[in-house]
Amino acid sequence: ATGLTTAPVAAAQTLPYQDPSLPVAQRVVDLLSRMSLDEKIGQMTQAERAEVSPADVTTYRLGSILSGGGSAPSPNTPAGWADMYDAFQRGALATPLGIPMLYGSDAVHGHNNVVGATIFPHNIGLGATRDPGLAERIGRATAEEVTGTGVDWTFSPCLCVARNDRWGRTYESFGEKPELATQMSSIVTGYQGTTLGGPASVLATAKHYVGDGGTTNGTDQGNAQISEAELRAIHLPPFVEAIRRGVGSVMISYSSWNGQKLHGNRYLITDLLKNELGFTGFVVSDWNGIDQIDGAPGFTGAEVAQAVNAGIDMVMAPDGWRSFITLLRGEVQAGRVPMSRIDDANRRILTKKVELGLFERPLADRSYASTVGSAAHRELAREAVAKSQVLLKNGGALPLRTNSRIFVAGRNADNIGNQSGGWTVSWQGGSGNTTPGTTILQGIRNTVGSAGTVTYSLNGSGIDSSYDVAVAVVGETPYAEGQGDRPAGMGLDTTDLNTVNTLRAAGVPVVVVLVSGRPLDVAAQVPNWNSLVAAWLPGTEGQGVADVLFAVRQPTGKLPVTWMQSAGQQPINDGDGKAPLFPYGYGLSYGNPAPDTTPPTAPTNLRATVSGTSATLTWSPSTDDVGVREYVVHELAGASDTVYGRTATPSITISGLVPGTSRQFSVVATDAAGNTSPASPPVVVQAAGVDPTPTPTPTPTPTSGAAACQVTYATNDWGGGFS
Ligand code: BGC
Repeated sequence: ATGLTTAPVAAAQTLPYQDPSLPVAQRVVDLLSRMSLDEKIGQMTQAERAEVSPADVTTYRLGSILSGGGSAPSPNTPAGWADMYDAFQRGALATPLGIPMLYGSDAVHGHNNVVGATIFPHNIGLGATRDPGLAERIGRATAEEVTGTGVDWTFSPCLCVARNDRWGRTYESFGEKPELATQMSSIVTGYQGTTLGGPASVLATAKHYVGDGGTTNGTDQGNAQISEAELRAIHLPPFVEAIRRGVGSVMISYSSWNGQKLHGNRYLITDLLKNELGFTGFVVSDWNGIDQIDGAPGFTGAEVAQAVNAGIDMVMAPDGWRSFITLLRGEVQAGRVPMSRIDDANRRILTKKVELGLFERPLADRSYASTVGSAAHRELAREAVAKSQVLLKNGGALPLRTNSRIFVAGRNADNIGNQSGGWTVSWQGGSGNTTPGTTILQGIRNTVGSAGTVTYSLNGSGIDSSYDVAVAVVGETPYAEGQGDRPAGMGLDTTDLNTVNTLRAAGVPVVVVLVSGRPLDVAAQVPNWNSLVAAWLPGTEGQGVADVLFAVRQPTGKLPVTWMQSAGQQPINDGDGKAPLFPYGYGLSYGNPAPDTTPPTAPTNLRATVSGTSATLTWSPSTDDVGVREYVVHELAGASDTVYGRTATPSITISGLVPGTSRQFSVVATDAAGNTSPASPPVVVQAAGVDPTPTPTPTPTPTSGAAACQVTYATNDWGGGFS
């Protein structure tokens, strides 16, 4: 030592929770140990941006802010968003522990609250594509646009399985079948990336848990009067898959199940979602959702306690956040909400914040701002729009020819707002030039160029018999949530009917393009129309509709919902014995080849390798002429047969085995056309050890036969404790 060293500079101390080299769990435990009750309650509180200031975030230690539908900063530009975000985030960083906040927004078909963002088709259109890879790419593109504005969290995907098209949120559903919503939940992986915290990784939300699409009469926020078996078979599977994909958050549904509001349902939130399904992320309420528990306006302590004790970890309390904080503090101090529940909620929220890298990179990553509405993203949206078109009837007028005289009419022909639907710039959406894009009319004009002529009038006036073909772009105008419920008629409205009839009266073949969030009651009119295309709610890239009309791309979309013969048939779903106008899965092509009806071969060689309380099932792949799309693993218990899980590869992990008991599984394969193979012979999975439960459970007898099942017992490295 020289003796000349200066005194060490008091370096800013890095606490364990701030140290990115430590494991996430260790950082969270450390952080939790430093937090006061008020700080913990703050983490569980989400306020609306218009109801809160950055200083409030500091004072009240708020854990999260949201932009409700359409709620945006001024200016509503990527930079405007990033500036707003950073201001709130600095408010959070100014707290003693500097815990970053999470900013959430409904980026449900692109980053739709931002003017200039790429607006993708609503989920129902994506369901029609039957293309989970496309959904994942859309999730990725959306995550980039979201990241460019600072937002860390999207309240998407809606994994509702819409069973009654009267419901105003039908278009937020990928379709009426759990299998379809399950496949399309690949969008979760797009949003979050392969690991949270990677490039442009945005926290996803599986919503609305659970049964929102199963309410009586399709009433929004209504009551799903269904058995637990139906809830599990129809509405739960997409959530199981989203959890398998690591979805970071789950939003609770406004609806009730058998009369009880989901927001207070401990069985569904804690026992089923968290304990049985093993969801380790955090649960967020819907907008003031906890206020509906007792039916009276205004939060009460009892509602707060019931919701938090049921397992809700963060409460979306847009304007009532102060009251929520006060009430929750009171309930904890009175012993009605245990500290263990508060700690669990915080552990879940903080884990996601750490995993997202918010502690290291709390401020907006403006390098992604240029992706908002970028040409590449619009091209992807155009592809999605084209793939979502479902050709329902072709009397020969399609595909359109560029060298022809085309008359275009209808309220949705030249209207970006209408073709984008609800949740576009504003909550309910709106008509007109609400955001940049290409209308369907512009797409038609672009395609025709100088080869032919395109004439347009809103209501069809001006048409005459000189035209080769008329295109009527009609359907629904924007709505969101319950405002779109249609408890009565579901037909075209008079304006649209008049437009189509004006075109017909000229004696010109009429192609109807329906821009709507769901099937409409049009059976009486379809015979008069030459051709019919379901365009759903395509978003900003109307060129994709024109691509299919002119066969620049072939129509490949398939109905994601059963198309009613009349509104009185609602609810109508595949397999319920009602005769539809067009069945689930229907969709013509211009070539019209015969549909594939050959099922895959049954999976063979099903075997299980058990290790402790989990097992890996493997089997030999099925073969199929058009390719196996996925395997569905069924669990068999006595007479009951439930879907355990789905996988694209011939293997799946079974977890939660109880030592000393056995379970039985079998596997079927499905191909791209939806044909299902025979079931494989079952396999019995026997967990080593002694059954800890007092009641002896009967062991199912394995089926014998040609393809006998093989059971492999692995050494149980802990079961010895149960002797
Ligand atoms: C909707 C949710 C949405 C939330 C926040 C609610 O009205 O039900 O789907 O995420 O608002 O905007």
